[in-house]
Amino acid sequence: MTSFSLLPEEAAPRLSVARRTLDRLRTVPGLAGRYDGHPDVRTLDGLAALPPLAKDDLNTALAHLEPAAEHAATWLFQSGGSTGAPKVGYAPTGFYMAGVHAHWQPLDRSDVFVNAWGAGRMWGAHFLAAALADLSGCRIIALGSVARDEYGGWLEFMAARGVTAVGGTPSVLRLWFAHARAAGIRLPALRKVLWLGEAWQPQLAEDLAVVAPQARRWGMFGSTETWVVATNTPDCPPDTFHPLPDQLVHADRDGLLDFTTLNPHMLNPVLRYRTGDAGELTTCPCSRPGPAMRVLGRRDSVVQVRGLGLDVDEVIAHAERTPGVARAQVVITQQGGRVAELEVLLLTDPDASPDTDGLRTELLAATFTLSTAFQHDPGNVRVRAVTELIGNERTGKTAALVVREEA
Ligand SMILES: [Zn+2]
Repeated sequence: MTSFSLLPEEAAPRLSVARRTLDRLRTVPGLAGRYDGHPDVRTLDGLAALPPLAKDDLNTALAHLEPAAEHAATWLFQSGGSTGAPKVGYAPTGFYMAGVHAHWQPLDRSDVFVNAWGAGRMWGAHFLAAALADLSGCRIIALGSVARDEYGGWLEFMAARGVTAVGGTPSVLRLWFAHARAAGIRLPALRKVLWLGEAWQPQLAEDLAVVAPQARRWGMFGSTETWVVATNTPDCPPDTFHPLPDQLVHADRDGLLDFTTLNPHMLNPVLRYRTGDAGELTTCPCSRPGPAMRVLGRRDSVVQVRGLGLDVDEVIAHAERTPGVARAQVVITQQGGRVAELEVLLLTDPDASPDTDGLRTELLAATFTLSTAFQHDPGNVRVRAVTELIGNERTGKTAALVVREEA
C-alpha cells in the first residue's frame, strides 16, 4: 500500500504550496538550519526526505511568521500547549470549511443542528462546525458546553425542537447520551451525530441505539494546526477517514502520520507536521476509491483528557521539581470512557512532606488543559503523597501514566 494519500502524478503539480511553506520555514531562526540540504520539494520522495515538524516547531514558526488572512479576520485558537498559556494556531474566517463542504455534506437545509462543541477559550471546533452548518444552510442551535445539572433541561428542549443533528467531542457527546438514556429521554428525530477531537467511543453507539436509533455518526479528523484533514461517513469504520484533496497525508516508516497542506491559503506552515497520531494508509470498506487513513491512536506523551491534549511528561516534570518529591505518576480514572478524575501521585523522599495543596494549585494554574477540562469540577484533580507508585506487576515497570476504568 502507498505511503501517501495522493499519487505522485496527482501531487506533483500541487507541491508548489509545499515549496512555498518550505521557503517560509527557512526564514524562521531556529528552524532554518534543519532544512539545509533540502533545496527544493519537487516529488513525494523529496517531501518524505524533509525533517518532520512537531507541535513546538510549529509554534516557534508561528511566533516568528505571525501570518495574517488575506481577507477578513485572522483567528487565534488553542494549539496544544498543555502547560501555561495556550500556544496558538491561526485560521482565517471560514476555517477552510468550504473545501471540506465541497467533499462532505453531512448536513442539509432541513437539519436542526445543535453545536455542542465548547465555544470560547480559544477552542476551534465550535467555530469550524458553525462554518460547515452555515454552508449547509441548516438551522443552528449554538449550545456550547453546559454543566452536568443542565443536561436534562437542554435534552428536553432538543426533543421539543425536533433536533436532527448534534455535533461535539465524543467524550462530551457520551455525557449527553448517557444522561438521556438514564433519564429516559428520547430524540426520535435525531439522525446525525458529527464528531471531532477524539476517537469514537463504542459506548456512544450503545447509548445512541436506545436514545436515538435513527442516528448515524459522521466523523472529522484534524487539529488546530492542520484544520480538518479527513472525514468519514456512517459506512466507514470509525477509525478510518478519507483525506481531503488539499491535505497530503503521509504514513512514515515508523508508523506515524504526518500532514502537509496543499491549500495555498493555509496560514499555519504545515509541512510534514506530526500530530502524534500513529496510523496507516489503507482502503476503506465503504468502497470509496483512493487511499483512506486509518488512525491507530497517539504515540507521544500527550493523552486526551475531556477532548484536550494533556502532556503527561510536562505534569510529571513539574511535580518532580517540588522539594521532597522523588517521583511522580499521573493516574487517570475513567468512567464509561470519560475521564472522571485525575490524580498526581507523589513518591516522597524519606521524612519529606511535600506541599501537596500548593502543588495542586500550581498545576491547575500552570496547566491549561487541567484548568479548562476540569472547570466545572476542579475537585476531581487531586495531588496525593503515597508510599508506593502503581506498578505493572507483569512488566515490573512503573509507567508515567496509569489509566483505570471504573464501572
Ligand atoms: Zn469510507
